Amino acid sequence: MYFNKNNRFPHGIMFHHFHDSRVHLKSQGSIDKDDFYKMINFIGRKNILNADEFYEKFKNNKLKNNEVCLTFDDAIKCQIDIALPVLEELKIKSFFFVYTSVFEGNPDNLEVFRFFRTKYFSSINEFYDTFYKVLDEDLKYFFDKNRNKIKETKIKLPFYTIEDIKFRFIRDIFLNKSKYEKIMFQMIKEKRLNHKDFYEKIFFQKGDLQILNDLGHLIGLHAHNHPTLIEKLSYDEQKKEYEQNLSLISTILNKPKNEIKYMSHPCGSYNAYTLQILKELGIELGFKQIMTIEKEKNMKKVNNSLLEIAREDHANIYKMMK
Ligand SMILES: [Zn+2]
Repeated sequence: MYFNKNNRFPHGIMFHHFHDSRVHLKSQGSIDKDDFYKMINFIGRKNILNADEFYEKFKNNKLKNNEVCLTFDDAIKCQIDIALPVLEELKIKSFFFVYTSVFEGNPDNLEVFRFFRTKYFSSINEFYDTFYKVLDEDLKYFFDKNRNKIKETKIKLPFYTIEDIKFRFIRDIFLNKSKYEKIMFQMIKEKRLNHKDFYEKIFFQKGDLQILNDLGHLIGLHAHNHPTLIEKLSYDEQKKEYEQNLSLISTILNKPKNEIKYMSHPCGSYNAYTLQILKELGIELGFKQIMTIEKEKNMKKVNNSLLEIAREDHANIYKMMK
């Protein structure tokens, strides 16, 4: 059962990737249509509110302990192709939080690389092998130096293989973002592919946003460029992120800015500036995500304000179901 023991639990359920057997291949953390049905059953259809009803109830402090809403982040196309038909069939209206650089041909490369890795390599290890060949560096010293850290990470994040962890260490510590991206783009080029051709398979088009809106789902903010740590940006930089985001969504949907009142924090990152900016922009409901550890330690802070509503990752619900 999703609802148990105590009454403190996240009121939002957070979804990202879905897979099918045709267009959207299985990737780390993705679920298929059947998993999605099962998850909805596990949560209990009657406990899932439509987004607009959730918004009214939360705002007026009328939400019951067992009531949740479904949320979808990042404007990724598999949500339209796989999750939306299920939502429509079961008549569940949800929140979709989108970053808008996607609509200007400048999306988050993480998604682009994820697509490339899944579609053009027979296994993740084949991808790693090719990556190290292109990188062409002697990594022995680096791995030796970080041997203990790698072991500790494996204990903390047991669902990653040692190879996964080593790759993340190379990507995030040995290289920096721009060096890493350079190698990835070189790999794409070596396969004679153009990453821009991936975009319409991976991301929402403007029309998708309009369809969702017409169907009664609620579209909300998720910053313009999807920074992974927005809390590290200055007040002005953060303000620009959310202003641009709001203004583009409002233009695409042909909807006044003051009718867009919801958001989720990219990667769960925010600080006091962010909350102030969101208030100034008239945002009334904001979702974050929580780590299981934080939840256990600090149950009282799971939902700490209207702009910090906690969400459970679908992967954790999936685990509870087993
Ligand atoms: Zn995101």
